Amino acid sequence: MQELIKRAKELLADGTVARVLGWKAGDMPWNPEPAYFETEESLKEFVYDGFCGANLSKYMIEASKLDGKTLVCLKPCDTYSFNQLIKEHRVDREKAYIIGVGCRGKLDIEKIRETGIKGITDIKGAQIENEADTLMVETLYGEKTVEYKDAMLSRCHVCKGKEHKIYDELIGESRETKDADRFAEVEMIEAMSPEERFAFFPCRRTIHYCILSDENEFDIVVLLAYPVENKRQIKYPLFLNNCPPIKYRYCIFVHVTR
Ligand code: SF4
Repeated sequence: MQELIKRAKELLADGTVARVLGWKAGDMPWNPEPAYFETEESLKEFVYDGFCGANLSKYMIEASKLDGKTLVCLKPCDTYSFNQLIKEHRVDREKAYIIGVGCRGKLDIEKIRETGIKGITDIKGAQIENEADTLMVETLYGEKTVEYKDAMLSRCHVCKGKEHKIYDELIGESRETKDADRFAEVEMIEAMSPEERFAFFPCRRTIHYCILSDENEFDIVVLLAYPVENKRQIKYPLFLNNCPPIKYRYCIFVHVTR
């Protein structure tokens, strides 16, 4: 992480970039959040550790509208979505200075809680410098341990690879995390009977997202839903959030059935 901060300071100082898009510490060690840093001084809050799973490529949509280049830290998987955003003309490659950061798998606090650990106060072993195979979890009831791989985000178990697909420079090392078949769950669901599928999915609603556009940007602004089993009894659509003024030119309904 120190190498990353040092490089960010250099690029800010020589004017290559106007700001840095990375992560800053949250109120707990396991919830760092995306943040902009515009001065060398502010970079003292910069963090990059095992809990920095947020994909920063989508934040480049807004950053592309700002003056000057933005240094953005992208993990290998984030570079796929960044390339997709380029194809959709939603981010400007010329406005980005991409540092491809190493990734050894990102952690999910819920996976740790699912092991039965309660009252968590701190987690050691997620820092890049001393990322360990075993996490030491400090709790109100004493110290517990969890294997790093058992606390990883599901997507990291089916990681597409550690090669960055777009970058200006690379910092940090990655390690292999794939230990599951990406399509194993699909095959499992395909093999189920209709009754088993019905029981497998906890939500039996059909969801419609209404995506409204003002031509340049699409935003999910209205969520509509009705319970499938009561379709005839319920007025459709049922607005789950407030409907905005109709000032948009396009409206796309996305139909998702679970
Ligand atoms: S392990 Fe793979 S999927 Fe997980 S955050 Fe890293 S690059 Fe992305």
